[in-house]
Amino acid sequence: MTQRTPAELPRDGFDTIPIYRTGAAVEVNLADNTNLWGTPPHAAAALRAGLDVAEYPDLYGQSLKETVAAQAGIAPSCVVTGNGSDDILDCAIRAFAAQGDTIAHPDPTFVMLPVFGRINGVTPVAVPLTASHTMDVDALLATGARIIYLCQPNNPTGTSTPAADIRRVIAEAPGLVILDEAYVEFSGDPGLIAEAPSLGRVVVARTLSKAYGLAGLRVGYGVASPEITATIERSRGPYKLNALAERAAVAAMTLDHDWVVARAAEAVVNRDRVAAELATRGLVALPSATNFLCVPTARAVEYAEAARARGIGIRAFASLPGIGGALRITAGPWAMMERLLAAMDTVR
Ligand SMILES: *Cc1c(COP(=O)(O)O)cnc(C)c1O
Repeated sequence: MTQRTPAELPRDGFDTIPIYRTGAAVEVNLADNTNLWGTPPHAAAALRAGLDVAEYPDLYGQSLKETVAAQAGIAPSCVVTGNGSDDILDCAIRAFAAQGDTIAHPDPTFVMLPVFGRINGVTPVAVPLTASHTMDVDALLATGARIIYLCQPNNPTGTSTPAADIRRVIAEAPGLVILDEAYVEFSGDPGLIAEAPSLGRVVVARTLSKAYGLAGLRVGYGVASPEITATIERSRGPYKLNALAERAAVAAMTLDHDWVVARAAEAVVNRDRVAAELATRGLVALPSATNFLCVPTARAVEYAEAARARGIGIRAFASLPGIGGALRITAGPWAMMERLLAAMDTVR
């Protein structure tokens, strides 16, 4: 029998899947849309309270399911937990689309989404945003894709799509709708987790990496009908949510709730304040419903390099579809925003 060479071992075409990379470490990281006020205090205390990890964690994260369910007024069986919401997206795609099926997504959107499609053999179909940077719901529906991914509000634009349009996609989609609400806490809108179980064809994905300040622990969840959550758990497998992450997540969602809400409100205030400051410098951000600003500028790479020279990381996009060059800047404590503005002023 002839043996495959090492280069021939992977699945056909798998070498074209990109490996995600971010910039080198910086003093002030305004590039990842995390909570720049830090880890919520009770979550941190829960982590310090015990490192008892000799036993396996709960199979499917029951205490987090119960916490989410109680807050949303739904049954715990309507919740599926994961190793970050990335895990929910990946597992949902694998469970609801076969190799060769399509997943339609707005473009630009969360960069990992088309990658999760391709990892699972599912072909991404990019649907440009409208001229006002909202999701083009008619064009998304017209793809007839097996899965439609919606990001509300959208990353990296920060823009929000009218709620009625989102509901129409869920009502009319031929297959599953994945509604990614990673930034809902900053949007002033409750989102759709309370309704998702009764809407039939949708799973709403949420993360504790952004407003909740737990990016390093990797915690996310999905909310849908029990049929849909059970299907996602099949492709997820057991033990994806580790014991420390589950404990800290429950503390963050309960004991730290008010802290999280207050920090999110502060992020929104500082976001608008820094947007006004940037506008006086000719850098006009898109309207944002998130904790970050998307700032179209042909000199994005130059600005990001100037920020990096002063220890600040911001995300530069050389060319976003329909937008061109752009910066993505996370809103944080005002002292950080002042450092950013000073760095921007070194570019002339
Ligand atoms: C950050 C982000 C995620 C990923 O969250 P994790 O829970 O850290 O995996 C998902 N979707 C969008 C749109 C994001 O910006």
